[in-house]
Amino acid sequence: ERKAALATSTGPGATADGHKVPLLANIGGPADVPAAVEAGAEGVGLFRTEFLFLDDDKNAPSEEKQVVAYRQVLEAFPEGRVVVRVLDAGADKPLHFLTPADEPNPALGVRGLRSLLDHPAVLRTQLTALAKAAEGLPVHLEVMAPMVADRADAKAFADACREAGLRAKFGAMVEIPSAALRARSVLQEVEFLSLGTNDLAQYTFAADRQVGAVSRLQDPWQPALLDLVALSAEAARAEGKSCGVCGEAASDPLLACVLTGLGVTSLHGCGVHSVCAGVAGEVHAGAVRAGRRGGPGGGQCRRCPCRRSGGAVGRVA
Ligand code: PEP
Ligand code: MG
Repeated sequence: ERKAALATSTGPGATADGHKVPLLANIGGPADVPAAVEAGAEGVGLFRTEFLFLDDDKNAPSEEKQVVAYRQVLEAFPEGRVVVRVLDAGADKPLHFLTPADEPNPALGVRGLRSLLDHPAVLRTQLTALAKAAEGLPVHLEVMAPMVADRADAKAFADACREAGLRAKFGAMVEIPSAALRARSVLQEVEFLSLGTNDLAQYTFAADRQVGAVSRLQDPWQPALLDLVALSAEAARAEGKSCGVCGEAASDPLLACVLTGLGVTSLHGCGVHSVCAGVAGEVHAGAVRAGRRGGPGGGQCRRCPCRRSGGAVGRVA
């Protein structure tokens, strides 16, 4: 009952005493925007840009193609916040032209930001496309890197953003325990953190997110995971910066209260899909949790045929 009440309250995300906790959508591309808007998302907390790269297994999409797609998303939230994640290839999201074929352990290999730093032209094109897409729009663009391990990674990403002339906030995803443990150091280079709890759980518990037999260890309620959330949020508070959650943990309305109490400043768990827009607005996290194995992005929708990753739209009452 409590869950249902949480999920049906409306308005901007906030605690009962008025502390704001923006609720942002997780999207996979422009096609997901109408459902996000309809569900009342206050912006986009995680724009997974991988979808653009799936059409061609030999080349990255052109800058022009990327500009069009990014602009469509940015225009939908004229005054809002849109957090774009640069390409997160490798491991559960392999791309032939970027991901080494012979890695014995792809989850620990060249993936996420590591892959982009090995292919700087791909990163540069994406950042330039984002800069062009945002030109003239009042949107609050934020761009973040997946799989940041340490301050050096964060600096390399921030340098690449600056070199591309991007006028946006640059951030780091906290998906590797080292980044949470040394979050203050990472924050010397970037302006915000976003906790990717799907991968953070995988690396904290040494439990492959695609292996059902160890799914117990992907539970975001586990104290060790929450300790890393707390460390990151506390570091951000100390540095006067923000720390959101964009992993599946943010889509659980009850856990939202815990995350907020730990100092998390926004929740990006509102996964909405164009195909399953009908279920956006109700608590969807249980279904996602039940079906999370094996999908890119960590959670697979079982409520409709889309089978895509996502979470819930809920409200912090
Ligand atoms: C995460 O790891 O929690 C995350 C948000 O990224 P993805 O699920 O796309 O790897
Ligand atoms: Mg991740």
